[in-house]
Amino acid sequence: MKHADGPEDTICAISTPAGEGGIGIVRISGPDTLSITSKFIQIRSGISLSTLESHRLYLADIVLPVDRQPNLSLDPPTPIDEALVVYMKAPHSYTAEDVIEIHAHGSQAVLAKISEISLRAGCRLASPGEFTKRAFLNGRLDLSQAESVLDTIKATSEQSLVVAQRHLRGDLRREVDRLRSRLLTLLAHLEAGIDFVEEDIEFVGREELKVVLSETADVVGAALNSAKTGRVLREGARVVIAGRPNVGKSSLLNRLLGDSRAIVTNTPGTTRDLIEETVRFDRCTLSLVDTAGLRETSDEVEREGIRRTEEAIGDADLLIVMIDASDVIRTASVFETNLFGKGNVLIALNKVDLLTPTQLEDLHLNLSLPDGVPVLSISTVTGEGLKTLQETIRHEIMPKNLEPSQSVMITNVRHQEILLRCRDYLAAALDSIESGMHPECVAVDLRGAADTLGEITGAITSDDVLNRIFSEFCIGK
Ligand code: GDP
Repeated sequence: MKHADGPEDTICAISTPAGEGGIGIVRISGPDTLSITSKFIQIRSGISLSTLESHRLYLADIVLPVDRQPNLSLDPPTPIDEALVVYMKAPHSYTAEDVIEIHAHGSQAVLAKISEISLRAGCRLASPGEFTKRAFLNGRLDLSQAESVLDTIKATSEQSLVVAQRHLRGDLRREVDRLRSRLLTLLAHLEAGIDFVEEDIEFVGREELKVVLSETADVVGAALNSAKTGRVLREGARVVIAGRPNVGKSSLLNRLLGDSRAIVTNTPGTTRDLIEETVRFDRCTLSLVDTAGLRETSDEVEREGIRRTEEAIGDADLLIVMIDASDVIRTASVFETNLFGKGNVLIALNKVDLLTPTQLEDLHLNLSLPDGVPVLSISTVTGEGLKTLQETIRHEIMPKNLEPSQSVMITNVRHQEILLRCRDYLAAALDSIESGMHPECVAVDLRGAADTLGEITGAITSDDVLNRIFSEFCIGK
């Protein structure tokens, strides 16, 4: 399938990350790939590029383009690098166009030179995500698969990779296509019935309509429910450390990060702003947020810090409420107990190095802590309990229910927003049926639901949406 205004020019870009590497790849795609690259690729065995077999590696010299040789008759071509070259003949390539990849030495000087001579030989520099966009426009990938290419590149954990790969293989597309085609069939029957409404002929019964719409709404609802887990997989979990000034929040953050990012001081109220760091424990990514101390204050700046603290607490996937175990008078006062009901909470009793075992035991007995909330005794000074704390954090935030059988996992905000609109259309259609509205009213919402689903795969989409999606990619992908 070639898009009406499909690309006619040939594009090139360095496809490997900046920096030194054993190899680096320049990718070229488009209808003139062979004629352009034949100006500067010389296959060692002497064969011409037009006779290259598809999907086979050839040893080659990359040389200055023939028309740029200073004195062709006297000088041999100036080599830029020795490289392995692979030709992927359309449509059996990533973009479904003719593609040549040049696997050269991974030096920025070499790769920049090869891309420069590709441009001089007739290529255009690819824009961000343009190779993937061409794959989409040429029907090689649907939009959800194109987006999962980006998720695969950006995957920071094994599990986010699992979901990205599922989507890349088309799991989401298949499920969306199944739902959409069911709705469209229903719509066709409903619309056929509208023409015969005078004769009282129904092509689809109210009950059947209700069943299909409810089942679709259930699947959409389940997909929406997976969005939180999906976000954790994609972006990592957000862990917030909250507590009074001086309880040891910054010290814990530093311990977890393994450096001295937050300023540790013993003057209360110095952490006025939020400090964010991303840290990886095993297979999950955590955003740690050290918060301004939770206390009443008249200081404007500090009040702003507290406002942000409360916002961060509201957004947290896990809240670590930190208590100074040595501060017996204020331990677990109303500040902390207010936080206990804020969702996924873990209580860290810090500075236990300052307590005797008996004092610690008494403290546990005297604290009125909520049931089912993990309580851990730690010391950021001696390191006591920190390993258990890390394991508990990991356990609390690891997405559950990630069996391979779970087909639809929403990890993308765009998909989530589309599904919310689809759910509204389905609810409106069900409402219309319940209240005995004219079939035409039901049909409008049914069409709306089917069309919104089509936006996920790109069956229905606008240039604006496409440009927004592909601009997130890097050049060369
Ligand atoms: P924050 O205001 O909650 O971020 O607290 P800080 O991390 O700045 O720590 C306040 C003070 O408590 C500093 O002097 C730390 O050295 C001290 N501190 C933090 N954790 C511990 C601990 O586990 N044991 C002891 N004895 N002191 C600690």
